[in-house]
Amino acid sequence: MKLLRAIIPFLVFAVIAQAQEKKLKIYISADMEGVTGVVTDEQLGPAGFEYQRFREIMTAEVNAAIEAAFAAGATEILVSDSHGNGQNLLIEKLPKNVQIVRSWPRPLMMMQGIDETFDGAICIGYHSSTTNPEGVRAHTMSSANLADVRLNGISVPEAGINAAIAGHFNVPIIMISGDDAVAKEVTTLLGNLETAIVKWAYGFHSAKTLTPAAGIDLIREKVKKAIGRIKEFKSYKFKTPIEVEVRFKNYRPAEVLAYLPNVQRTDAHSIKFVGKDMIEVSKFLEFVTTYNPALAP
Ligand SMILES: [Zn+2]
Repeated sequence: MKLLRAIIPFLVFAVIAQAQEKKLKIYISADMEGVTGVVTDEQLGPAGFEYQRFREIMTAEVNAAIEAAFAAGATEILVSDSHGNGQNLLIEKLPKNVQIVRSWPRPLMMMQGIDETFDGAICIGYHSSTTNPEGVRAHTMSSANLADVRLNGISVPEAGINAAIAGHFNVPIIMISGDDAVAKEVTTLLGNLETAIVKWAYGFHSAKTLTPAAGIDLIREKVKKAIGRIKEFKSYKFKTPIEVEVRFKNYRPAEVLAYLPNVQRTDAHSIKFVGKDMIEVSKFLEFVTTYNPALAP
């Protein structure tokens, strides 16, 4: 009896420790340009004749990632709908045990809701950056307005900005899906993460693509692989304070933003802002790409 009394606290501790050990939180950021089969804006927004069908395919890819993550040991998943209007995913088709971030603006943009309790982040449907001559719908944040985004002098794709936001919370990006161009660009930037290449770009509006069914299988396989080696990944961190440079396609955004005392115009098309960390940088980027005095309500 005495022995049992002595052992019980250790048993309780062991059970609690095991329960804590088993907790695995995964963040899924879903874009659309890198979804299997997407090649033009006909698939990417409400005006396109194929948009409604491709919402189904995007949702199926996110569901494949969710199922694979749970099967590989994830205990909690947060999904952000991070393309266009932020209302692409057919949320009634997602399982009951996930939650979804929708619409804009949001201070952490495509990573809204992430924090230090997460173990890894997954990017579905991603695309290469605006400075990359290759890749379907290659752009950074806004294809209409931005020509480059640099963090501490390094030109970064959306996946790089998002990796730096996750990195602020010590969370690594473990897997990405999209075309061959984004897979190459992000692997070069972030290292050996799992990539599901669902299409091969011939140009901005053309690719050879897998079928959606094959794309889903590949995403499932790569998510399982990534979670299987989740301890190997390192988060992507920048030395603070962080200098962010934004290059616009036009002149006037740079001219007018430089009226602000904490914004410096670096050339005709570009501005610079220094944030104390990635949270400030993210809010600045969301402001720059969202603000318009006609915003209502
Ligand atoms: Zn997008």
